Amino acid sequence: MTNLIPLLDRNRRFASTDTRSHTPRLPFLPHRGLFVICCIDCRVDPAEFLGLEFGEALVARNVGGRVTAAIIQDVAYASFLVEEKAPEGPYFEAAVIHHTGCGSRLLEDGQLRHEFAERGAYDEQALADLPVTDPADTVRTDVQRLLAAPQISRHITVSGHVYDVDTGLVTTIVEATAPAAAAAEPLNASPQAHVIEAH
Ligand SMILES: [Zn+2]
Repeated sequence: MTNLIPLLDRNRRFASTDTRSHTPRLPFLPHRGLFVICCIDCRVDPAEFLGLEFGEALVARNVGGRVTAAIIQDVAYASFLVEEKAPEGPYFEAAVIHHTGCGSRLLEDGQLRHEFAERGAYDEQALADLPVTDPADTVRTDVQRLLAAPQISRHITVSGHVYDVDTGLVTTIVEATAPAAAAAEPLNASPQAHVIEAH
């Protein structure tokens, strides 16, 4: 038995419509030009709080909606495919959305964090960096992390937002920014970049 069984009626209703024929030109050119990154929390479903419909966005979800190496790889792959298969674009915007009351905050508990690290031989320091303690703060960090990743296409943009689970409202924290524009900001330049400029 699978918990999916009660949902198979919904699947058959879906299959009886022509929704699945409203396909973007390529799988990586979503209708709304969006790659949404958000938390796995069942309260934080972008199909609900953003009203996302079929084919409108790529969606990646993990604990906290954090920009991890795996997320960077996914954004890099999608943007690489646009460069390779549709270089004229349109290129997408990666929208990082963190939320209030995130379950990742349970990892702020040192004892719980330690026990979980032991369970999977996980890096305890990396786990300590994971909690979305202040979503406006962590989303800024993650937008910069994605913009700084050399693997992603220079043609995409990255934005940051906070979803409030109490009000249901989304607030934009970082407007859509291109990697090149971020690199031009002195505040975002790495120490190494300053050394290069000095020469
Ligand atoms: Zn969460």
